[in-house]
Amino acid sequence: MKVQKTNLDKLNNKIINCKKCPRLSLYIKEISKNKVKRFKKEKYWGRPLTGFGDPKAELLIIGLAPAAHGGNRTGRMFTGDSSGDWLAKALYENGFSNKSSSQYLDDGYKLQNTYITAALRCAPPKNKPTRGELQNCSCYLKEELSILKNIKIIVCLGKIAFDTCCRLLDIKGAKFYHGNLFSHQSWIILCSYHPSKQNTQTGRLNWDQWAYIFSKSKQILAKSS
Ligand code: SF4
Repeated sequence: MKVQKTNLDKLNNKIINCKKCPRLSLYIKEISKNKVKRFKKEKYWGRPLTGFGDPKAELLIIGLAPAAHGGNRTGRMFTGDSSGDWLAKALYENGFSNKSSSQYLDDGYKLQNTYITAALRCAPPKNKPTRGELQNCSCYLKEELSILKNIKIIVCLGKIAFDTCCRLLDIKGAKFYHGNLFSHQSWIILCSYHPSKQNTQTGRLNWDQWAYIFSKSKQILAKSS
């Protein structure tokens, strides 16, 4: 456990200081200076984001990337934006966190048996990373997967997270669709649409579909313990 924590700390230090993608390094700095009106008075994080959560977690959640005015502002993934609101509520309702909202770094929000990470650690313009940027960043997820030894379920939020996961774990021929669940080596992979506004406000992802992902994860973990 102590070794895991130390390895995660070393990895996170590398991530925070990473500048492998010049376009993204520039973009997150610019966003931090050109703030949106509603966050004008806030100091933006404006650096790459690490994963966060329980180093002994059995549930791993992989998102796409930090949101420009969400994680890139608050300094924590899925914190201070609408995707984070959806995720925090579903996790809390299924016992994977201590509170139902994730707003600021020091808000006391704690994950339980869960670790949250992403395919990309810097917010990309229009949420569209290039293939090269995803390649550059995938080494960090790979390292997390080797450090987080207790993971049993990997929830992939969106096709980019899913494709990244398949590439790293050498999964062939699997299809991405909401609720798809299959085993690969010692993991169960569970696919979900990303809770972005483009999905939640268009009805592509409704609350029941979303809640299913976490109640199913809870059920699987309860059976496996
Ligand atoms: S996206 Fe990843 S690889 Fe690229 S600069 Fe950010 S942290 Fe580094």
